[in-house]
Amino acid sequence: MKYWSYSRSRLFKYCPRAYYYRYLLRNSDEAHRARVLGNLTTLQMAAGGAVDFVISRTLAAWRDKGELKTDLDEVGERLIRRIIAESPHTVDAMRNCDQDAPKYDRHLPPLASDFYNIDLGAEFTERMVTRVMQCLHTFEQGEIWERLRGFGCSTWGPLVQVDLERMPFFTLNRCIRVSAAYDFALKLDSTVHIVDWKAGLHSERALRDASDQLTVYGLWAAAEYRVPIETVRTQAVWLSEGAPIWNPQPLNPDLASETVDRIQQEVAEEQTRLIPVRNPDSNVVSYEVDPSAYPPNPSTSRCLECPFRKLCPAGQVECAHVSTPRASRTTPDKLLTQSSR
Ligand code: SF4
Repeated sequence: MKYWSYSRSRLFKYCPRAYYYRYLLRNSDEAHRARVLGNLTTLQMAAGGAVDFVISRTLAAWRDKGELKTDLDEVGERLIRRIIAESPHTVDAMRNCDQDAPKYDRHLPPLASDFYNIDLGAEFTERMVTRVMQCLHTFEQGEIWERLRGFGCSTWGPLVQVDLERMPFFTLNRCIRVSAAYDFALKLDSTVHIVDWKAGLHSERALRDASDQLTVYGLWAAAEYRVPIETVRTQAVWLSEGAPIWNPQPLNPDLASETVDRIQQEVAEEQTRLIPVRNPDSNVVSYEVDPSAYPPNPSTSRCLECPFRKLCPAGQVECAHVSTPRASRTTPDKLLTQSSR
């Protein structure tokens, strides 16, 4: 079985070496260190995770107990402040990454900025706290949450963060396992809807990325519910930008078809980078990874908070000139910290 996910694909384009550390390195001391470091995330990513977590708990409480949770902004604020407060302790225990990663609540991830002694600054930190609060306030007060309740819980698909141990996936050509970490799915009489909560800022690039990502989730929905692609609707809900309304759009069939082609092509290209090794006794072929096929793609903004910098000489050189390290405010560092789940 071959593996593909939207986040894998994006990370490869962003920095092949980070992709190698996250997904390919196996069976070595360095692999162990990469696995430990891969737990690090950024404050921006942690803020998005906090929003997703509070929303999924809110949905579950309504579905399972009929309980309408309120004051979500306060719940989110407590969570993100706890992440910020607990991160230095978890990071302390991670300093020696030859050892196993310390146990921590997966909703309280350690921050790369603490690990690499990056001063995020009080203003930026508070901005992230405010973003979490704003997003959750928008969700709680907004029309979409009211709509989802109105459709009835029997129409809802599984809640990924609450119900599923493993990421949802579909299989392409019987040999490519495509992960689809969607946020919310809904099956109505003649349509299937995928909703994705967005805590980041709305930009042209973010819109394009969201469209690509939702197309993959739409493909999952068509496969999962066994419905034609034309019946799938998707919506990215930008929670930090005012009060979004319910406005799911049909999946673009051309984009869906291009996405399928792209997945197949990227998986085929990945195969060409692997070195087949035949065991002379069993005649079984296994594959080895050549790190030189995954070169580093350093830039200061990319490398500063990259979880793998401790392992990456190119990233260390890139950041050596930064005298007072401060986190980039623009790096889409979600790429570097997001696993395929
Ligand atoms: S430190 Fe920089 S070059 Fe190295 S893996 Fe990370 S992003 Fe890539």
